[in-house]
Amino acid sequence: MIIAIDGPSGAGKSTLGKMLAKKLGLLYLDTGAMYRAVALAVKRAGVGFDEIERVAEIAENAKIELVGEPDALKIFLDGDDVSVDIRTLEAAQAASIVSTISEVRRIMVEHQRAIGLAAPKGCVLEGRDIGSVVFPNADIKFFLTAKPEARAKRRHTEDQLKGRLTTYEQTLAEINERDQRDVSREDSPLTIAEDAVVIDTSELDLTEVFDQILAKISEHRTAAG
Ligand code: C5P
Repeated sequence: MIIAIDGPSGAGKSTLGKMLAKKLGLLYLDTGAMYRAVALAVKRAGVGFDEIERVAEIAENAKIELVGEPDALKIFLDGDDVSVDIRTLEAAQAASIVSTISEVRRIMVEHQRAIGLAAPKGCVLEGRDIGSVVFPNADIKFFLTAKPEARAKRRHTEDQLKGRLTTYEQTLAEINERDQRDVSREDSPLTIAEDAVVIDTSELDLTEVFDQILAKISEHRTAAG
């Protein structure tokens, strides 16, 4: 079973994707982490994001591994644990830039399909283009969204818990900038797949969204027989 979860930053995709994968015993694939790892590899190589060919070469050769259970997932880049390094604000912005490069997307999509198809019981993939590009035939697609203010508030609370010194306004500006880049890029912009189940999480708590997701999956399973 392939489950696609797309949507803008801070809509709750990661938390819910992990909960879902755990509940259903599926693999969890955080595709944003892969773009973040490529961005870090580019930075470590001292290559500029405008050097498209070199960036693509790095994306092609980087060994990106996601290891462990969904709630203790570790990301390795060429054998080095980069789980913490890829979560900085700088890494998020860099990933958002690197992900506009078509060649990088082609390479990542290829990896993501291979990982999803190899998962014995199936996979929950979370990102921006899962239902539209990576797995257009996914068994079920969710598009999680929320008002920018609600998403920035969640991100800001998470950041504070991690001890990051950012203001709510900075978080809101950062989210808006990344969203704008995601919806306006030429290759695979953030779009709602025609057959996606859209859930606005602005006014809902985690359990309410999770219950809605589980109800949809159970409906889908009943319909599929
Ligand atoms: O999901 P996360 O915020 O970690 O993703 C980092 C960046 O990677 C996003 O801002 C987005 O630009 C890009 N991304 C993408 N396609 C995906 C996943 C992430 O373009 N499937």
